[in-house]
Amino acid sequence: MVVFKFGGASVKDADGIRNLASILRQNPGKIAVVISAFGKTTNALEKVLKEWIEGSTTYKEYLKEIYEYHLAVAAGLSDEKNDLRKGIDKLFALLSEYLETKRGTDYDFEYDQVVSFGELWSTTLVADYLSAAGYDVEWVDIRNYLITDDRYRDADVLWGESSSRIGKKFAASEKEIIVTQGFIGGTAAGTTTTLGREGSDYTAAILANILDAEKVVVWKDVPGFLNCDPGWLDGAVRLKEMSYKEAVEMSFSGAKVIHPKTVKPLHNKNIPLYIKSFLDPSSEGTLVTSAAGDASDIPVFIRKENQILVSVLPVDFSFVMGDNLSLVFHNFMVHGIKVNLVQASAVSINVCVDHEPRKIRILIDDLSRNYKIIYNENVEIITVMRHTEDAIKKVISGREILLEQKTRRVVRFVVRKKQDN
Ligand code: ASP
Ligand code: MG
Repeated sequence: MVVFKFGGASVKDADGIRNLASILRQNPGKIAVVISAFGKTTNALEKVLKEWIEGSTTYKEYLKEIYEYHLAVAAGLSDEKNDLRKGIDKLFALLSEYLETKRGTDYDFEYDQVVSFGELWSTTLVADYLSAAGYDVEWVDIRNYLITDDRYRDADVLWGESSSRIGKKFAASEKEIIVTQGFIGGTAAGTTTTLGREGSDYTAAILANILDAEKVVVWKDVPGFLNCDPGWLDGAVRLKEMSYKEAVEMSFSGAKVIHPKTVKPLHNKNIPLYIKSFLDPSSEGTLVTSAAGDASDIPVFIRKENQILVSVLPVDFSFVMGDNLSLVFHNFMVHGIKVNLVQASAVSINVCVDHEPRKIRILIDDLSRNYKIIYNENVEIITVMRHTEDAIKKVISGREILLEQKTRRVVRFVVRKKQDN
């Protein structure tokens, strides 16, 4: 069994889905195919949700646009014998009815109930298309097998229950191809959950781990892991191989190629991960394994934008390293704020986190009861792996450095975001 993951960009239109089908044709054998919502559907559904929760009927217009987009994709794949619009129609009716009859208030819960439709639509249409084109395919509703807790929008996988359900289901299927949803899961009680934005990669890794897959291939619109984002810096080159450790460091630091949670389930079972281009499927891509040493000396540049640097200072000038340390981090944890970088001095702790204004305001209010808080908005973290002097110069010249952390292999800077001229 191998696991393939196709993200939204790879299935944004009828041609993309035909391309997916041709990639499957070139790869005979048992494949679990994990698919995200089409194109930017998740963002669009977030807009629907926001309007609906606020009680505005504008959500209907947004939903109609999404519906028409899916109909157009379906029409592009249909022929006289197979009208693929029917499956889509049914699923849109389900969501419309939910939104018409329910008055949602719990944002996180409703997020998962509403936004999960993106993956239900995409996988239904792809599976119907493959089946009409003669592929040996089964559509699986992963919500019945990938079982999570009920922390909506960021659910944790219940590994014991998921292993037994996924193991049984996938072993029992006699089909060559199983098409299923990334990003979503379900509680044991049968309520829909999601694993966090961009979570489909993680789904692929979970399935691979449980099914002892030979490999995972994440099909992307880039030729593999690049040493920098080509939209940011010139001269991007593909990294042919890297270790799990490097992959996890890169994705944690902000490289958007794979979701940071993807690596652990693969590492734990030593399953190779390939990042390959769906635009050029026969090209080599990047291989992530344990065998790959840190042999390459190509510097890697990563940028994590939209950060806030929060400095926490005990008001009585007491040292931070004792009880203060655990108290401060406990605060970040209970507010569900993930820490991206920490630096402590004798009397202050500096913490860089994603700037989610709503959460940060509550955090700062809480911390302010016991500490003096200073913060810098509009900052970014720049990471350079395998740094050289030239490499560092390339990314920090002309920027205001607020903080720096350096080891032999990795250097991180918190800098103030360059103003757009
Ligand atoms: N569709 C979801 C998102 O855009 C999950 C994914 O694409 O991985 O976040
Ligand atoms: Mg996506």
